[in-house]
Amino acid sequence: MQSAQYKRVLLKLSGEALAGEKGVGIDNTVVSNIAKSVKTLTERGIQVAIVVGGGNIFRGRSGEGMDRTTADHMGMLATVINSLAMRSALENIGVDTRVQTAIEMQAMAEVYIRLRAMRHLEKGRVVIFGAGTGNPYFSTDTAAALRAAEIDAEVILLAKKVDGVYDDDPITNPNAKKFDHLTYIDVLQKNLKVMDSTATSLCMDNNIPIRVFSLEDPENIIRVVDGEKIGTIVEGE
Ligand code: UDP
Repeated sequence: MQSAQYKRVLLKLSGEALAGEKGVGIDNTVVSNIAKSVKTLTERGIQVAIVVGGGNIFRGRSGEGMDRTTADHMGMLATVINSLAMRSALENIGVDTRVQTAIEMQAMAEVYIRLRAMRHLEKGRVVIFGAGTGNPYFSTDTAAALRAAEIDAEVILLAKKVDGVYDDDPITNPNAKKFDHLTYIDVLQKNLKVMDSTATSLCMDNNIPIRVFSLEDPENIIRVVDGEKIGTIVEGE
């Protein structure tokens, strides 16, 4: 096994990843397997912050007949539901976890305070950032980039359904080519589906590398941190 290369990581889990085969809702087995991998990282002394998406429950873009801001508020609430599920799975296996939300809902989570989040991480607690950035018209990818920059995370571990970044959709095009390495500019210019452009730009401006990999096997989280060459890495020149 190679030695871990990071001290503080930000794990971005798409909402769909929590849904497993069902595609919608929350698959408890999937969530508890992810929790086990996160536990392994914390046992090795790696500080783990998590941002969870909400697409398995609600997406602002799909709120037809609704004003966008209301729909996005619903999407942000979906990320809080996922955050609570993730916290529960981690606490069940003895991992101290705090959820901090970008919008106050103090009966169920702390409000996001950067220094407090950093203190939790230093104490070995996992911190889950819920409610995205707290603003409509943004995504949880952007929340991941923003929080990673704020807490000085060395890398964003971008766990997806597919095993990296391709030049076309690998599900519909079997000839799609996978990239091992890309620059932020490649992603922006080729309009590759890694993160949205706001999130990619934020990573570029703050020099935060992105490791994209599949969560089909939750142990991939550990493999990526161990420096195994799986998935795609996006970074500067
Ligand atoms: N969302 C938002 N602001 C944020 C983060 C998320 O308004 O900072 C909303 C938005 O409606 C989005 C939903 O929350 O569709 C779920 O977030 P996610 O990034 O998972 O969206 P997806 O990429 O699945 O559409």
